[in-house]
Amino acid sequence: MTNSAQRVGLFGGSFDPVHCGHLLVAQAACEELALSRLFFIPAAQSPFKPQEVPAPAEQRLRLLRLGLAGQTLYEIDEQELERGGLSFTIDTVRDYGRRFPQAQLCYLIGADHVATLPAWREAEELARLVELVVIPRPGQPSTPLPPPFRGRELTGFPLGVSSSQIRSRIKRGLSIQGLVPDAVAEAMRNSKLYL
Ligand code: ATP
Repeated sequence: MTNSAQRVGLFGGSFDPVHCGHLLVAQAACEELALSRLFFIPAAQSPFKPQEVPAPAEQRLRLLRLGLAGQTLYEIDEQELERGGLSFTIDTVRDYGRRFPQAQLCYLIGADHVATLPAWREAEELARLVELVVIPRPGQPSTPLPPPFRGRELTGFPLGVSSSQIRSRIKRGLSIQGLVPDAVAEAMRNSKLYL
């Protein structure tokens, strides 16, 4: 990556719900890549989780807004929720290419998803349009990017938290303190989400 171009970070996911792992990823990406902006892009429905129906978009968005409150570099992009149906990254990335023609688009992806990249829709075109930024995940061996994808790996901050673990802990009545921001935990409690 060159240093002169503006770098825009794109962070797609289900965010069902947002958790501290996501927030540490965002912080590491901003610091290590000197991003000028970072967009959180909640998916309507992930093509890789066809059997999982996520919590309603409005609920996930509300938690995301609470989790990101006060963070000036972060923005939430609702385009995949507005499009509905399966959310394909290439559609979203093309939109960013139009909006930021001069910028380097840095697409954040957890190490657990790297091996699936060749199966993403229009993978070759996607690889041309973005630099991949691989986020380490504890317990996940570091996998090289499959060509023609290019990019780099982040250093910070591996945290073994996942949304499915949060949902499962809530269902079992276990504490989620420290795993999600306090405001997110309180909102989930109040709305009895994931019980
Ligand atoms: P689930 O457990 O429901 O599969 P998740 O915790 O992986 O969800 P997503 O919203 O699907 O959360 O993740 C969005 C992106 O963030 C993915 O690329 C995922 O790999 C990455 N990610 C999520 N949690 C972490 C974490 N703790 N460390 C690093 N990357 C993460």
